[in-house]
Amino acid sequence: MPGLDEKLHDIYDEVVRRNAGEAEFHQAAREVLTSLGPVVAKHPEYADAAVIRRLCEPERQIIFRVPWVDDAGTVQVNRGFRVEFNSALGPYKGGLRFHPSVYLGIIKFLGFEQIFKNALTGLPIGGGKGGSDFDPKGRSDGEIMRFCQSFMTELYRHIGEHTDVPAGDIGVGGREIGFLFGQYKRITNRYESGVLTGKGLAWGGSQVRTEATGYGTVFFVEEILKTRDDSFDGKQVVVSGSGNVAIYAIEKVQQLGGTVIACSDSGGYVVDEKGVDLDLLKDLKEVRRGRISEYVEARGDSARYVEGGSVWDVPCDIALPCATQNELNGTDAATLVRNGCGIVAEGANMPCTPEAVQLMAEAGVAFAPGKAANAGGVATSALEMQQNASRDSWAFDHTEQRLAAIMRGIHDRCVETADEYGSPGDYLAGANIAGFVQVADAMLALGVI
Ligand code: GLU
Repeated sequence: MPGLDEKLHDIYDEVVRRNAGEAEFHQAAREVLTSLGPVVAKHPEYADAAVIRRLCEPERQIIFRVPWVDDAGTVQVNRGFRVEFNSALGPYKGGLRFHPSVYLGIIKFLGFEQIFKNALTGLPIGGGKGGSDFDPKGRSDGEIMRFCQSFMTELYRHIGEHTDVPAGDIGVGGREIGFLFGQYKRITNRYESGVLTGKGLAWGGSQVRTEATGYGTVFFVEEILKTRDDSFDGKQVVVSGSGNVAIYAIEKVQQLGGTVIACSDSGGYVVDEKGVDLDLLKDLKEVRRGRISEYVEARGDSARYVEGGSVWDVPCDIALPCATQNELNGTDAATLVRNGCGIVAEGANMPCTPEAVQLMAEAGVAFAPGKAANAGGVATSALEMQQNASRDSWAFDHTEQRLAAIMRGIHDRCVETADEYGSPGDYLAGANIAGFVQVADAMLALGVI
């Protein structure tokens, strides 16, 4: 990765100083700033209006207490967050993450990424993110419900279909969105479908939203392959994670003729040379909410479980990191390169460390950053908002075609923008610059606000 020029360096230093200790936010900001050198050289008007400095400062940050009572009758206290980062293009939009690692720096990095990702979709959505340090692992349905109700009892006053529209992320799926929507409806006495996305199909949700992030990532890779007159046919693919993004990435790879030979969770990974048994994985993770180690017991001979270790040690043609931030480091990237992996696409948000990204760039690996490759989730959320606004619901095929077209559009915009700004083939530069320019132009038009 090239260094930062002087003006951008000053902005980065300011980000570090004003957001002390928030390493993930610094990393996400630096990654974008690193691409913007040629943009500020061509467009001095952005600097004159302090567009980048304003972009790095969230419009609003909300932190609140979330008290709730567990099944043993003990009072628990968690912390809730919503960072409303940028609304130049539309209402704040982005998921909620429930995970013990959540603190302000994680929510800011996710919210910052979301601004550019949402811009790249071409749909009218701003960027935001929220969540809590609540750990859903091992909690009963009743505990999850009470937590969600308490969380929404504060959050409801900050959101709305024209203001801020949360959705899911790690630890927040259909069950949690249901409890959150129920509490919002009760408090406000409004059936305001467009206030949350990722809803169930019976009560305002969209077809394909569940599948969208994983499917979209694979559609993006398909576009990369097409530029090389290639396809998924016969490709060996490794996917990290086994949550919502990973499961539907695996499903689409299989539909397109590839073989997913490994996936993982935080405890370890499984290698299944015959190809991952998706029905088994879905039952294990979506229904039983179990651990990946149980996969091998059910699958028998063809699979083996490796406790700990790195799933990136498994040789593959294509790698799809779909677990969490900074899960693929420099050592992993070196292993992937040595094993002949040619494409890495981020299904998760910022799963590759800066060292990994640099190493892959030097080795000529095609690297699709999350803000482009995983934008299918939030894009389909915007399609859900469209359906809610028109009180309509679309068929699966129609919605999937819209998703595929959006991913093609993002891919082509990345390629064209990278060409225009002198970095042909660099999807990271293309995504950062195309997303930035779209938001920056809107911010210029709206004045200093
Ligand atoms: N959490 C997802 C993301 O990282 C989806 C957000 C949404 O649908 O609003 O983009």
